[in-house]
Amino acid sequence: MYLDDKLHASYVNKLPEVFYSEMEPNPVSEPKLIKWNEELAGQLGIKQEGMLNVVAGNRFPAVSKPIAQAYAGHQFGNFTMLGDGRATLVGEWQNIAGEKLDMQLKGAGRTPYSRGGDGRAALGPMLREYIISEAMHGLGIPTTRSLAVVSTGDPVYRETVLPGAILTRIAKSHLRVGTFEYARRFCSETDLTALADYSIERHYPELAGEQDRYLRFFQAVVDRQASLIAQWVSVGFIHGVMNTDNMTISGETIDYGPCAFLDKYDPKTVFSSIDVQGRYAYANQPPIAAWNLARFAETLLPLLDAVPEEAVKKAEAILKEYPRIYRKYWLEIMYRKIGIQEAAAGDEVLVEDLLKWMEQTGADYTNTFRALTIGDLATLEPNEDFLSWKKRWDERTSAVRPEAVRQTMQKANPHVIPRNYLVEEALDAAGNGDYTLFDSLLEAVSKPYSYASIDPKYTANPPEPDEPFQTFCGT
Ligand code: AMP
Ligand code: MG
Repeated sequence: MYLDDKLHASYVNKLPEVFYSEMEPNPVSEPKLIKWNEELAGQLGIKQEGMLNVVAGNRFPAVSKPIAQAYAGHQFGNFTMLGDGRATLVGEWQNIAGEKLDMQLKGAGRTPYSRGGDGRAALGPMLREYIISEAMHGLGIPTTRSLAVVSTGDPVYRETVLPGAILTRIAKSHLRVGTFEYARRFCSETDLTALADYSIERHYPELAGEQDRYLRFFQAVVDRQASLIAQWVSVGFIHGVMNTDNMTISGETIDYGPCAFLDKYDPKTVFSSIDVQGRYAYANQPPIAAWNLARFAETLLPLLDAVPEEAVKKAEAILKEYPRIYRKYWLEIMYRKIGIQEAAAGDEVLVEDLLKWMEQTGADYTNTFRALTIGDLATLEPNEDFLSWKKRWDERTSAVRPEAVRQTMQKANPHVIPRNYLVEEALDAAGNGDYTLFDSLLEAVSKPYSYASIDPKYTANPPEPDEPFQTFCGT
């Protein structure tokens, strides 16, 4: 059968057995395909036909050896044993470009790592992950992707009874900082080495066989994460739950729970109801990533040098570079957001001053850059500070043809993002069986740089909410 040729075991026979538990299907009563990502399926070379029972977790090709992965992690700063409590890794799929990708079902039932949980997921949060991960992909930001959502026909019991659903997630891998924390804390050094070698082979193959490969591996992960977080910050994305188990080794965004995009530019913005301290606030994301990377470094110490003090010194030297690397990536993007291709002295201040004005006036982050891009400043309520900034910006960009400036800006400034109220509205209607709003929002956020004419509600400033918007962990 076609699937038997395409789906292969992931992790099994490549990593020591301590890293996973083999899984049997946990069948659901009445699977119904709710969403199918035709574009992604095309890239993967997957036909929808015959897939329903696979993406519902009712039947797996035997050769794929489905598993749940073991991992640990620091949740809000506290170390805990975790693991895939509600996800089954169906296997590895080779796409048409020859890349190998994990296919995982989120909400596929209990596993040995479920603790008290039911292993299931509700339809609303799975649709939310579907639309936001696809929006992130549209924004050009590395992310796991969503292939399908099926409703299971079974209820899930939360505060209320909700329809159950399963999301099919496609990822470069599901190796996390937390996987290394698990290895270091609970496994042997041989296991840890096997995990590092496997991660290198899978994500950083150019380092395989190099003498100092573990140090360079660490450096490469630091680099990818710095780049990733800079991209999040540049579009106003707040992940919401940057626990170390939610940080990938591949550099992809993973685990869309309480995430959301900010509207008004306020660096202190927090949406997640459980993040009462603001640990994962918008502006805290770059330093939190550094904290997570320090936890990652600790797991690698035995591989970095036989002398512990030397290993620490080597890791610290790399971690020390993180703020500089992050800022380099962030500035590269911010310059393009104001139409600058070749940075010059004073440009950093130009970026900072615009952000300062936005913060002081509570301007909408996305729409400020959009207004500057299309040259329609009517919605900005420009005060004197803005006008003097605008004069400096005009002078700075006057040497370059306006079309070139606009082109640079258009590629860096989304004209549409999945605004919280639009997502909520679409999910509410979907909950009542009407997918019209979901589908049109999905289409809009999938092409955020097109600047094609679009329903104006997608580009308008959001209405003032009566109460601050809150998100909840998608369990
Ligand atoms: P997350 O907040 O999605 O990153 O999940 C944190 C941990 O809780 C992971 O180990 C999940 O597998 C686990 N988890 C979340 N929801 C459930 C559930 N409904 N049943 C079992 N485990 C869960
Ligand atoms: Mg997680």
